Amino acid sequence: MKVAIIGGGAVGLMTANYLVRNNSSMQITIYDRNKGFGRKILASGNGKCNFMNYKALPSDYNNPEFIKMLSKIASKEDCLNYFNDLGLLFKFDDEGRMYPMTESSDTILSMLMLDFKNVKYKLETIVEKIEVKPDGIVINDNEMYDFAVLSTGSNASITGNKCNDTYKYLSSLNLKMTALEPVLVGLKAYDDIFMLKNTRFKCHLTYYGTQKYEENGEIIFKEDGVSGICVMNASRYYIKDSIMTFDFYPSVSKEELAYKLNARYNTSCNPDYYLAGICHENMIKYLKNKNILKPNAVAMLLKQFTIKIKEPYEMKNAQVSRGGVSLDEVNDNLSLRKYPNIFIGGEMLDIDGRCGGYNLLFAFMCGIAIGKELLRYEGKDK
Ligand SMILES: Cc1cc2nc3c(=O)[nH]c(=O)nc-3n(C[C@H](O)[C@H](O)[C@H](O)COP(=O)(O)OP(=O)(O)OC[C@H]3O[C@@H](n4cnc5c(N)ncnc54)[C@H](O)[C@@H]3O)c2cc1C
Repeated sequence: MKVAIIGGGAVGLMTANYLVRNNSSMQITIYDRNKGFGRKILASGNGKCNFMNYKALPSDYNNPEFIKMLSKIASKEDCLNYFNDLGLLFKFDDEGRMYPMTESSDTILSMLMLDFKNVKYKLETIVEKIEVKPDGIVINDNEMYDFAVLSTGSNASITGNKCNDTYKYLSSLNLKMTALEPVLVGLKAYDDIFMLKNTRFKCHLTYYGTQKYEENGEIIFKEDGVSGICVMNASRYYIKDSIMTFDFYPSVSKEELAYKLNARYNTSCNPDYYLAGICHENMIKYLKNKNILKPNAVAMLLKQFTIKIKEPYEMKNAQVSRGGVSLDEVNDNLSLRKYPNIFIGGEMLDIDGRCGGYNLLFAFMCGIAIGKELLRYEGKDK
């Protein structure tokens, strides 16, 4: 039996790895448009690969029911055990984010590709067409397979012509798609915040989007918007013309802050003097520019800095996308309802999770689940 894996990213490589490690007799061919596999794995976690999150819950995704269903075949624990069995030494932080001990994403990529000696690679090959015929699945008009795995990811963080080939080949399969939107992305603001450009603040963020979202974390001001992990998480609840507020001193009450500012102000009302030691220098410039100089007004602003959100930055700036192949098209075992010999997983599907290892976890869970399902056809189900 022959299987074509379309896309050598997290899902595709995990599927192949699962088959190889379970002594599948399937002939595996992986197609990828790039010169090498796993570009996004390598980019993840700032090159350290935050490959999963041990605290992940179904509610951390836009469709918890789908995650619950997937977990019946391949759960978070299965994924963790799988990496453990592969021999990966890993570590984790208080937020549950997991990284290889080497802090290098190369480690994850090379572990996934260990034992690939019998796997056929078709690199720098764009899959443009898939046809389902009575005797098999034909890729790019020339090769026939018994099974195919669709794992071409999304256009998040992709630029140029490559954006055209991520989903194009799906047209012949006539699948329902949901609208594609960037998520885990910075948000543009209407406000004039230019003076704060490149300034980082640890703060408490509150976002009034499709639902109220709150998180403590670091934000960074950009020329025309804000970014940082908590902003990216908030972007999953984006609605136009919504309000985001930052409390830059979450451990101090507004009254305490005002008291401190007033005490300094009574010594000198020169803002460069009385705000020094309390505010970041760019914030002092910002306050002076906006003529917000009285202690109580300053305290108010620092405890509830408010911006009006215009829109997310573009897909090329996003870590993941929302939308893609509709979940209505997919069976519980990740095969397509219309074509049970074709499996699909990862970012191609309308599933997105929080920032912090949740999206790679989902992709790896899909890879394990698809691998398991393919083994069933060989009578090797586990
Ligand atoms: C900068 C960045 C940082 C990230 N950091 C993290 C993180 O720390 N933790 C986390 O959990 N997630 C992170 N993510 C998200 C995570 O990388 C993705 O969700 C995950 O890689 C999706 O896996 P996938 O297999 O669905 O797609 P991908 O890993 O994107 O793989 C898709 C593959 O398909 C290939 N392809 C596409 N179209 C075609 C075609 N027509 N023909 C042939 N090949 C094709 C692509 O070249 C690619 O290799 C990050 C993403 C980015 C962009």
